[in-house]
Amino acid sequence: MPMCAEHSNERLSRKLRSAGLRPSTARVHVLRYLDRNRNHPTVDQIYRSLLESLPGLSRASVYNSLAALGRAGLVRPLAMDGNELRYDSSVGDHGHFRCRGCGVIYDFDLPPAVSASAADGLQGFQVDRHDFLAWGLCPGCAGAGR
Ligand SMILES: [Zn+2]
Ligand SMILES: [Zn+2]
Repeated sequence: MPMCAEHSNERLSRKLRSAGLRPSTARVHVLRYLDRNRNHPTVDQIYRSLLESLPGLSRASVYNSLAALGRAGLVRPLAMDGNELRYDSSVGDHGHFRCRGCGVIYDFDLPPAVSASAADGLQGFQVDRHDFLAWGLCPGCAGAGR
């Protein structure tokens, strides 16, 4: 059943509150955007899309919202290209594959045996987070001979 905007805002406000965050307009919109756009957008993409419905929005408040959501564990920043951070609202363990043909970042599931805390060489370390990154060509681009 599709949720109307009001219900979805209420659900997101609850999610923010239970993570200890005040559900400001910017935070609710940023979180909703990331929930709906699973393509790992950049700050700029988020800012430009939200500006259409929130004309008074500043880039700084998008940055601040993302930082707060990140600290609360609701959103995960992803550094794939070195310079530009992407944002992901799936915070469970998964890997990322970036296609050098189309530039799309794909999610992939990790085999259950892959875990940094069980890795040789990390015994005694406390692992807060880990990233699994892969680069190459997606099937579409590989087929197109890029
Ligand atoms: Zn591709
Ligand atoms: Zn992801």
